[in-house]
Amino acid sequence: MALEKYKEKRDFESTPEPKGEKPRTSPTGKTPRFFCVQKHLASHLHYDFRLEHNGVLLSWAVPKGPSLDPATKRLAMHVEDHPYDYGEFEGVIPSGYGAGIVMLWDRGTWTPQVDDVDKAIEKGDLKFTLDGYKLKGSWVLVRTKGGYAGSRGQEGRSWLLIKHRDEWSSGELDIAEFAPLSVKSEGDFAEILSQDNPDIWRSNKPAQGGETGAMFDRIIAQAMQMRAASKSRTKAKTTKAKKTTAKKRR
Ligand code: MN
Repeated sequence: MALEKYKEKRDFESTPEPKGEKPRTSPTGKTPRFFCVQKHLASHLHYDFRLEHNGVLLSWAVPKGPSLDPATKRLAMHVEDHPYDYGEFEGVIPSGYGAGIVMLWDRGTWTPQVDDVDKAIEKGDLKFTLDGYKLKGSWVLVRTKGGYAGSRGQEGRSWLLIKHRDEWSSGELDIAEFAPLSVKSEGDFAEILSQDNPDIWRSNKPAQGGETGAMFDRIIAQAMQMRAASKSRTKAKTTKAKKTTAKKRR
């Protein structure tokens, strides 16, 4: 039910993303349950912040990513619920909605600091703790009043993700810069793309110009190089193996 929008936006013939058909019963009350953050290079780089609740992942797109500094409030756009099994997804979306590269940037458990998560969401104030690899301690998501200028139709969707002051907060450490890689593959965007076909976007990148377009150019070039290097390594190995076999025969 909650996944209608998720399914509507995607063509599962052309995306490797989960179809969202596995039912899931989530823990209730102040019990730990799954959370993740996916770093997503699409038309713009952003971080998708996802909290398991009622069998799905409540989702917010955070353009600048989470900050460990309590003084830095990060805009978080509330987006459609995602299936629970999306939480382990990492890979390349070749075309359509969200086309680009998805990296599993952090994962772990979250624990609501309230008994009724639905009520907290409705109120627009959800306090919780995180226990991930990169994000830990106490946080809050608060809905902003109105929305922001130029966000037509986005009223009520804009929230702020804020770190509470505790032993895990930091005014100095930029966590996105300090820990930029995947917690699943330990790779960067180029490595994830090189596992797929780095050539898919030769004529039609998810972002053409600007900073994001330039990022794609760099990452595609790097991924092609990695692929070429691993191919020539495989070739060298095969040649060596052939030579060894030939020697043995002699
Ligand atoms: Mn996204």
